[in-house]
Amino acid sequence: MFILKDGTVVTGDGKTLLEKGSVLIRDGEILGVTEHVAPEIEQYAEEVIDCTGKCIMPGMINHHNHGVTFGPIFASGLTNYGKERIMELLDRNFLQGCTTVLNVDGFVTMDEVKETQKCHPMRIKTATTHGPLNLEACMACDGRGISEKHKIMSMERMMADGAVCIGEVGGGHTLGGGGQDYLYIPRAVKAAKGVDIDYLQARAMKLSVLGRYIEKSYYDRDTVAAALKENNLDSIMTPEECRDIVYATTYASVQVALNGYEEAARVAKALDVPLMCHNAPTSMKKVQEVAKMGLNHFIACHSNYLFTRDEAVVNTMELKQNYGVIIDAAVHDPWGAKRLVASPENLLEFYKLDLMDVVSTDFANGTFDSMLESVEHALEEGLTTLPRAIAYCTKNVADAIPLLAPNLGLLKEGYTADVLVTSYPHISQVERIYVNGKLVAKDGVRLVDHSVI
Ligand SMILES: [Zn+2]
Repeated sequence: MFILKDGTVVTGDGKTLLEKGSVLIRDGEILGVTEHVAPEIEQYAEEVIDCTGKCIMPGMINHHNHGVTFGPIFASGLTNYGKERIMELLDRNFLQGCTTVLNVDGFVTMDEVKETQKCHPMRIKTATTHGPLNLEACMACDGRGISEKHKIMSMERMMADGAVCIGEVGGGHTLGGGGQDYLYIPRAVKAAKGVDIDYLQARAMKLSVLGRYIEKSYYDRDTVAAALKENNLDSIMTPEECRDIVYATTYASVQVALNGYEEAARVAKALDVPLMCHNAPTSMKKVQEVAKMGLNHFIACHSNYLFTRDEAVVNTMELKQNYGVIIDAAVHDPWGAKRLVASPENLLEFYKLDLMDVVSTDFANGTFDSMLESVEHALEEGLTTLPRAIAYCTKNVADAIPLLAPNLGLLKEGYTADVLVTSYPHISQVERIYVNGKLVAKDGVRLVDHSVI
């Protein structure tokens, strides 16, 4: 038995904060959370760790990330980044305080997840989107990481073998998002015209042809001609050529991908398992439709993403009217890289209005900021309370996806001891990470290179 003694304890239940509390841990399990440790108990402990000036909380459960298994990545089934980069991405999650991560690249198989798990102490789980329409959207977009075993897999089989939910249905690549800007459109322009263009030029092509909501009816030759001129593309292609490239690289997969939402929702309903859908302007209407289907757990992913602030708030309020809807707010990269999301405005608005049920990082090109960093900023601005904010990242997630983190997400007697000790009030500085009651990271360094579960 060991004791994390005299820290600020946040249990994860959304309410409880002990200003000077201790957590007792034995054999991978939480023995108790108390404001007073009796001297005879303390004597019996093998180790007593003084946590004065620290915060003790449950490990973060990040229910939305990509590129964290040895399988294909994204809804578009890209070839993964290779073991070294995958380990870096796992470590990024882990050292930010995640003791559980959910891979939402829906085409991985369980053997790939198990192989990854062998190499890392963090708990690694997966979601699935193995269905014919989702596969079709994937192949229409990219599919270079997809092999026969991924093609013949089904959502039903994955759930039976250990997947924890269905998702992420849709994604930036298949729905005409960022992937088109930095990958598919530049690649197609290079192939057709032999010219390199940057992601801003690609984005301008896309938006001029299809608009923000990716609609075919948006096309207007003069609008496209003006955009080409403004972005120094008018000497490279005609409006018609631009239109054809954008249709082929962007629009083709969008329609199929949206049909994939219904396919996945039907399976989720039949199996009564949680469903996670990419929620952004392109898929907004479809997400609203699925929300009305009466699923017991329907997670509207990153509901703060790509919308304007007001649009995100209105859309979320509307979604919340429906039974079973769970609102996720994603952190992305507004404090660090600022590449995908330049400002935390939407996220902080969600904290302020208590709009979300759960928080995740999402991928943000692999430079995602930490959930705890977002909590720290929200607290600094007085938008939330520490117990409430920690629950978004722990207990609420365990409740939203019951198979993801059973017996986790709370500091409570009998729960599994995935525990963090952080600096306080700078809770994003994670000092100790315990998984299953074992110390697996200290002061930003991972101590073991294998599974401890
Ligand atoms: Zn997404």
